[in-house]
Amino acid sequence: MFNKFVIFKDDDAGKDFNRLKKWIEIVVDKDAKGSVGLIGKYLNDSKLIDYLNSIDSSKIEIFCHGYSHSFYPFLINRIFRGKKIIPTEFDRGLESHNKNLIKYRKLEKKYLKKKALAFGPPGNIWNENVADALVQNDFKMIFSWRKVKDNILTIPLSDNLNQNTFKDFKNDYEKNKDALIYTLQFHHAKLSDDQFDLMVKVIDFLKNNEKRVFVTPSELFNISKKNKAVFNVMSF
Ligand SMILES: [Zn+2]
Repeated sequence: MFNKFVIFKDDDAGKDFNRLKKWIEIVVDKDAKGSVGLIGKYLNDSKLIDYLNSIDSSKIEIFCHGYSHSFYPFLINRIFRGKKIIPTEFDRGLESHNKNLIKYRKLEKKYLKKKALAFGPPGNIWNENVADALVQNDFKMIFSWRKVKDNILTIPLSDNLNQNTFKDFKNDYEKNKDALIYTLQFHHAKLSDDQFDLMVKVIDFLKNNEKRVFVTPSELFNISKKNKAVFNVMSF
């Protein structure tokens, strides 16, 4: 049988410990899998470090979500006024991208058990230099809405969990029904209680009705080496 895959991508680990834990517990309880984007600067928090090291990395995989994260008000400024006041973390030069990724790798090596293979830029904003900086810092994949570069694999983003009801989610899902890789983004810090409940239904639906296989980024990376169709989607 030809499998279709699903990746859950949750951003901003470090900002809200309790909600992060709640998100991860749902994924693990429902026997699904997920990936969590860690902001490097939060690796000064021993409670977070201990927790991240305690989770089963075959079920919940950490990816790099930058070192400092972009400062949101400026990002809004940039998008809505079209003025570049302060560039976001990965919309700068190669040197700056490298510097921040090196800082992330240093802290990761010091505090975490596992090295991240995937990168998800804060705000999903990146420029042409990012792929080169990622390759230089030994990342294999980037989450993105659009093609990046030939030297790095892309995990294509599909949707955000911003719906409040299952009906709305299903309507939106229809657009991605046939996608070989379906990547759903979450921001645990912003999820309402209703959306946490919705998440449970979404997992059941994707597993039982859609027969999608939950994978982590590194599993998908390994699959891409053998499965040409997956490789083609990731190198689009
Ligand atoms: Zn973020």
